[in-house]
Amino acid sequence: MIPMVNLQAQYAEIQDEIVGGFSETLNNCAFILGPNVQAFEKEAAEYLGVKHAIGCASGTDALHLALLAEGIGAGDEVITSAFTFIATAEAIKYVGATPVFVDIDPGSFNITPENIEKAITAKTKAVMPVHLFGQPADLPAIKAICDKHGLKLIEDCAQSFGATVYNKQTGSFGNAAGFSFFPSKNLGCFGDGGLVTTDSDATAAKVKQYRNHGSEVRYYHDVIGYNSRLDELQAVVLRAKLKRIDQYNAARRHAAHLYSELLAGLPLTTPYEDGIGVHVYHQYTLLCDRRDEVMKALQEQQIASAIYYPVPLHQQNVFKAECAGVSLPVTESVAARCMSLPICANLSDDNVHKIAGVIRGVLSA
Ligand SMILES: *Cc1c(COP(=O)(O)O)cnc(C)c1O
Repeated sequence: MIPMVNLQAQYAEIQDEIVGGFSETLNNCAFILGPNVQAFEKEAAEYLGVKHAIGCASGTDALHLALLAEGIGAGDEVITSAFTFIATAEAIKYVGATPVFVDIDPGSFNITPENIEKAITAKTKAVMPVHLFGQPADLPAIKAICDKHGLKLIEDCAQSFGATVYNKQTGSFGNAAGFSFFPSKNLGCFGDGGLVTTDSDATAAKVKQYRNHGSEVRYYHDVIGYNSRLDELQAVVLRAKLKRIDQYNAARRHAAHLYSELLAGLPLTTPYEDGIGVHVYHQYTLLCDRRDEVMKALQEQQIASAIYYPVPLHQQNVFKAECAGVSLPVTESVAARCMSLPICANLSDDNVHKIAGVIRGVLSA
């Protein structure tokens, strides 16, 4: 079986370091906001080139706390993508704001500056681009729009750890950003975890308060907060993997480029790199009219594949009523034809050849 992500192989390479770190934590019992969380926050801020990085319990929480700390709330509109995981829009709803879905570019699958600008109303308070599948959205252009209209820029970096735009990390452009450390993400832990980044001291202070019961000084509570801390054991895992993230992302890019080379000339569209940023291939996603046939053939050869995402958010049951009348033709057409192939830092060239060979067999028949 070739899985979408081979986490076992990755663990085998760093097992000693992680077990050593776990053992230390189990002995010192500093389980909540301990030394590894503090060290990871410092190391992540350095790597990402931001003033503050604040660990929290998940990527969903990171986006929620970032919006909350930036003062987004009831009555506000937040412009975002419908071609994403539900958590992007959930975070917007948690603060009482309304997600306004705009259409994507058919090549990069990211929301476009033109579509964002057209959707701005008197109620728009923020723009939340998603760096989908690891390819940065057009941050320079989106930031210029936000600056021009006085809007906050909150980045959904759940799939883009290590992706850059002109050598600057995603998560360092906006007022704030949220990262996810769900196990299959480019930087993943062994459960749930997340991170908020910001250059603003005020935003950082608020996120720290919100993640820890609205409290700055223990047992003194200033606002209603949450229990959303990054776990100490997860921070051990993240510190070990952060050291190797460039190597992991380079391996993903290598596998992606090999796929694209081997699949060239077939009736499908391989991922497009728009040249604005460096794509870190959280997913390797194709467009193919014969998706069902291809997925069935892969399954018969014990090769995983998946559809991210089959139903865009404006067509989900939870948003159907609220989005009646919303039409996003590019998003809808991409959702009907997209499929993702296995990709991770431990995917061998042999397996890429094998997978591409199966697809070639189906589509050249
Ligand atoms: C994974 C993901 C999230 C949520 O992260 P969790 O850590 O699973 O809560 C948010 N947005 C996008 C685009 C994601 O892929």
